[in-house]
Amino acid sequence: MIRYLRDMQDAMRYALQVAYRDAIDDEKHKIPSPIQLRREVREWFYSRYDYARHHVNPVCRTAVALLRSYRRNHNGELRIPEVRRLAMRIDGELFRVVGDKVRITLQPDHYTWLHINTSNKHYQEYSNGRPSELLVTDMKVCLTFVVGDGKKPLGSRLMAQDLNFRSIDSTGAVLSSKPSLTGVERQPLREIVRVQNDYSRRRRALQKHVKDPQKRARKLKETRGRQRNRVRDALHKLSTKTVRENPDATFVFEDLKGIRKGGEKKGRRLRTCLNRRPYRMYQSMAEYKSPNGTLYVNPRGISSECPVCGGKLEHPAWATSRCGTCGADYDRDRLASLAILLRGLRLCGPTPFAASADASWRQMREEYLYPHGMPEAMGAGGTDAAGAPNGDVYECTRS
Ligand SMILES: [Zn+2]
Repeated sequence: MIRYLRDMQDAMRYALQVAYRDAIDDEKHKIPSPIQLRREVREWFYSRYDYARHHVNPVCRTAVALLRSYRRNHNGELRIPEVRRLAMRIDGELFRVVGDKVRITLQPDHYTWLHINTSNKHYQEYSNGRPSELLVTDMKVCLTFVVGDGKKPLGSRLMAQDLNFRSIDSTGAVLSSKPSLTGVERQPLREIVRVQNDYSRRRRALQKHVKDPQKRARKLKETRGRQRNRVRDALHKLSTKTVRENPDATFVFEDLKGIRKGGEKKGRRLRTCLNRRPYRMYQSMAEYKSPNGTLYVNPRGISSECPVCGGKLEHPAWATSRCGTCGADYDRDRLASLAILLRGLRLCGPTPFAASADASWRQMREEYLYPHGMPEAMGAGGTDAAGAPNGDVYECTRS
């Protein structure tokens, strides 16, 4: 093992040199990614050592991490850090826990065995988890496990949320062999809207009044950072509150992870939704704070297909969804939360749920209708925030 650690220390020094040279040669002094680095280091590594090829991965990962943290701790200055410690992280692919021993693959088909001290008071509990990493130094060996399979159970009801950053609209349902809707509610996001508008006003003032371009850029960056922090704070409070009030609920959200890629085609969607980050931020906060699992549904067609009858939706005004088949004008965001809920129910099992035939829907239908006599100007999206040019607006609407 000691020979292995020494060799890896040498390999690390070599990888650091390569990564450093790459960063110096790069126009923007970018440190290469571990994958780029591996491309440059692997032939050298394979020809020099007879270790299993996979060992080059942790070497490159660690080298990149060392360089990055050196630069972070030295105000952006880059130099090759010294590798003093004899230490190496071994990936899960290269070792296996067998009884009270751990088997490490140093060379292909050549194993090294180490004893595990199973008398650690948590060992019995933790060892049920998946072994994730082995840290080997010349003094000790640490074995880490990932406890649990990362999957939380579903709650006893579903709560579908449509996020607009003007409001969050939720539709709930009891999850049973015969699901039924429990209610729809709207929570306005005044605090977040206020912060967004406040900062976009400040930025406009800066653009106008600060003449020195460097100073202006710095000030603008500062404002953006503060805005982000305040939005994040507000989202934390909101998600904590929502999870606390709904300890038995499984949240259902639109899956926004893949949307950016397809965004080019959906030009309008991309334009109206300049920054989707707070959306995702809220979702992941609720996901990790909730004791229950979270469902993500495909957002495709949510605003163009009527969840009640399957008919085509039109939007005569921004906040309205009109279904010709139902003959009704629905509140767009509330209806969207219903559509998300129904997709979530479909994920939960074979129980078919047709809103149009369901008693709970008929009781609640009124609450989903758009209140007439309150003409809405075309512009939930047309606030002053959405007009800001710099793309950091959190206003997000569905096209
Ligand atoms: Zn309809």
